[in-house]
Amino acid sequence: MHNLEHTLGADLNQRRLNHLYRRRLSHRGPQTPELNINGQALLAFCSNDYLGLANHPQLISNAQKACADYGVGAGASHLVVGHTDLHHQLEEVLAEVTQRPRALLFSSGYMANIGVMNSLLDRQDAVYQDRLNHASLLDGGLLSSAKFQRYRHNDMLDLARQLTSTEARRHLVATDAVFSMDGDSALLKPLSQLCNEQQAWLMIDDAHGFGVLGPNGGGSALAQDLTTAECPIYMATLGKALGSYGAFVAGSDALVESLIQFSRNYIYTTALPPAIAAASLAAVQLLKDEAWRQQHLNHLISLFKQQAKSLGLPLMPSDTAIQPLMVGSSQGALQLSELLKEQGLLVTAIRPPTVPKGTARLRITLSAAHTESHLHQLLQALAQLQQQGLLASVEG
Ligand SMILES: *Cc1c(COP(=O)(O)O)cnc(C)c1O
Repeated sequence: MHNLEHTLGADLNQRRLNHLYRRRLSHRGPQTPELNINGQALLAFCSNDYLGLANHPQLISNAQKACADYGVGAGASHLVVGHTDLHHQLEEVLAEVTQRPRALLFSSGYMANIGVMNSLLDRQDAVYQDRLNHASLLDGGLLSSAKFQRYRHNDMLDLARQLTSTEARRHLVATDAVFSMDGDSALLKPLSQLCNEQQAWLMIDDAHGFGVLGPNGGGSALAQDLTTAECPIYMATLGKALGSYGAFVAGSDALVESLIQFSRNYIYTTALPPAIAAASLAAVQLLKDEAWRQQHLNHLISLFKQQAKSLGLPLMPSDTAIQPLMVGSSQGALQLSELLKEQGLLVTAIRPPTVPKGTARLRITLSAAHTESHLHQLLQALAQLQQQGLLASVEG
């Protein structure tokens, strides 16, 4: 018998020694670029609130009104008595904005990914995943009991080779549409063609594309022109660009009904609070009514890329709001994050196992809530670190 304190203590120590120890910051007040953490004013470039909706007055008032009318907790799962007209309306508008026949709400993106795979796959089946997929997709695959395979990042040849050499019953290919720690996009057209040829089902996780890409923020499938037939399983979250909480899966009637019948993560959990559904309804409406948010975000993305490039900063191939700078070592990434913090800037160091070994990075995220002046503050600080030789310099 190992003593719990002793065993865990040794693991924790090892994590510290590897520069992989995680710490939480706690702040007071809403999610905005200007945060106050332990009395220090910090300008943050790390939230996923890409449109600045998390603190939007319309989301707040919708949630407040729904709380007054519906109370706080949903009180039960969707299949018992937790499903309200607000949840139902939200599913309808999500189907509409993603141009899919139907949508089904899940309590979180993590649950949705696990729920889809555990209901559609079993041990006779196979799941194929991009190596850089989000942990929730990977866990969904691992927990599904299907044969689990990973293909090289965005490598269609590697995937094709794997798809043609198995004898599984069903094949499901799952990918982040926008890779969460890299910011680049999946090649959805070639992927859908390959899936079609090999009779595999394509599932995309659009946590970082929904709300910001495509017409009215309808997401990556629309941005890359994929119909429901070409991308039968579309999943996205409501906690990032939508500024709210929760997730959904959109697709055909048969898909949605199957999830309602068979997805354990849908069936055996409490429905989202109705007020959160009400806030999400406001957010979906704002995607259309305040389209300047997407435009301003795109403007900031191109401005950042252009200036970072002319400084020779180690940008990664991303056109999205996720603009990481490659560092390499975990220790280096942590140190840079600390130095930025001393200058009043909050940028998270992302380290293994979130990213592959030797690819620790600063994950900079931009938001429509940022101003050009915010961006200049960041770029100035980065340029300074680079001049001190702490950040790599690449040819512009
Ligand atoms: C954040 C994220 C999730 C999880 O969504 P939650 O609603 O936060 O649980 C799933 N997939 C990707 C790619 C994500 O970035």
